[in-house]
Amino acid sequence: MKSFINIPENSDFSIHNIPFGVGVFNKEYISCCTRIGDMVIDLATLYDYGFFDEIEGIDENVFEAYTLNEFIELGKPVTNAVRLKIQELLQENSKIADDEKTIEACFYDCNSVQMMMPVHVPNYTDFYSSIEHATNVGKMFRGEENALLPNWKHIPVGYHGRASSIVVSGSEFHRPKGQMKPADAANPIFGPCKQLDFELEMGFIVNKNTEMGDSISTTEANDAIFGMVLFNDWSARDIQSWEYVPLGPFLGKNFCSTVSPWVVTLEALEPFRVETPKQEPEVLDYLKFEGKQNIDIKLNVYLQPENGTENLISESNYKYMYWNMAQQLAHHTINGCNVEVGDLYASGTISGKEKNSFGSMLELTWRGTKPLKLTDGSERKFIEDNDTIIMRGYAEKEGIRVGFGEVSGKVLPAK
Ligand code: CA
Repeated sequence: MKSFINIPENSDFSIHNIPFGVGVFNKEYISCCTRIGDMVIDLATLYDYGFFDEIEGIDENVFEAYTLNEFIELGKPVTNAVRLKIQELLQENSKIADDEKTIEACFYDCNSVQMMMPVHVPNYTDFYSSIEHATNVGKMFRGEENALLPNWKHIPVGYHGRASSIVVSGSEFHRPKGQMKPADAANPIFGPCKQLDFELEMGFIVNKNTEMGDSISTTEANDAIFGMVLFNDWSARDIQSWEYVPLGPFLGKNFCSTVSPWVVTLEALEPFRVETPKQEPEVLDYLKFEGKQNIDIKLNVYLQPENGTENLISESNYKYMYWNMAQQLAHHTINGCNVEVGDLYASGTISGKEKNSFGSMLELTWRGTKPLKLTDGSERKFIEDNDTIIMRGYAEKEGIRVGFGEVSGKVLPAK
C-alpha cells in the first residue's frame, strides 16, 4: 500500500496505521481526526462530504464531537469499516488524491492542530502485569525471597485508579504534596514529594457498555477493545510507600496520568502480535486464552531537563508483559463488574530484564542508590522540577511501521 501523501521515513503514522484522535483546528474548531505522515485529517468534514455514506451503522456525524466515545461505541463492524475506508481514500490514485477541494477542507499540517484528550474516560484501572517490574519492586521493598507475592502468578493484580486527573500529552502538572515518612524519622512530615517518578505503561480503551453481572471472556476481549495509547502513570514514591498499607495506592498515584493523543486500533497492531511468555503455574480456566495475545511494541523513555536535550533513559517493550490484555479484561469482569465505553485499562509499569529496560526511575536508579547521569553533567535519582518525560512507542516488522507518536509531560514546582 502506498499513499498519495508524502510520508516521512520512520513516521509512526504510515498508511498501515490510521489512528484516531480529537483535534482543535485553527484554534477554534474541534473534530475527531486521523493522521497520516505529518497530515491530520478532519473526519467531521470528510463525513459531511459523503465519504462514509456507504458504511452501514454510522447514521450521524459522530466525528463532530469533543471525544471519540460516540464513534467507538458504534463497535468494531463500523469502526473497522471507517478505518479501512480512510485507508482506501489515502492510497495512490484514490478518488480524493486529486480532489483539491476535499484536501483543502480536510487536510491540515499536524503542527497546526492541537490534540485533545481522545476519549472521555469514565473509569480507569491500573494493572501490575510486568513480572520484571513486580519482581524489582518486590526485591527493593521486601527482599529477594519474597519478591513476588503468592497471588501474583494467579491473578492479574490491579487497583482502581483516578480518571479525573488523566490528561493528554503536552500537559504540565504541579509536583504533588503530601505526607511522607522518611526512614529515619519518628513521625511523618508534610511537603512537596521528593521522589517523583514516571511509569512507562500502555493502556487499552474499551468500546462497549456491559451490564452488571456480565463478564467478558478472554475470547471476547479483543472485540471489546477499541485500541491502545501510551500511558505515563506518574507516581510519588515517598507518598506511596507511607500510605499504601493496607488498602493500596491512593494519593501517591492519583494526581496525574498522561496519555498519548492518538488511539491506535487493535487491527493496526494485529501484524505485530507475539506469544505471551509462558505462565507457570497454570492459570485458572477463566484466565486461559488462545492465540498470540502480546504485541511487540518498542518503547523508549527520554528525560529532558529545562532548556536541555533529550536523554534516552529506558528501552523497553510491551511484549514482555506476563499478563495480556485479554486476561486483564476477563479478570476485571469475572465478578460481574460492568465496563463502560471509554474505560481505560493500563498495563502497569513495563520493565524488561535488562537494567536499561526498566520502566521507572525507582528501578533505573534502584530507589535512588544509583543516580542516572545526564548529558548536561547533572544527575537524577528521581524527577526534578521542570523536567519533561517523553515516551515514544512503535511496532515495526518487514518495513511496516505502526506507532503511537509520543506522550510527554512536564513537572512544574509544587503549587
Ligand atoms: Ca501504574
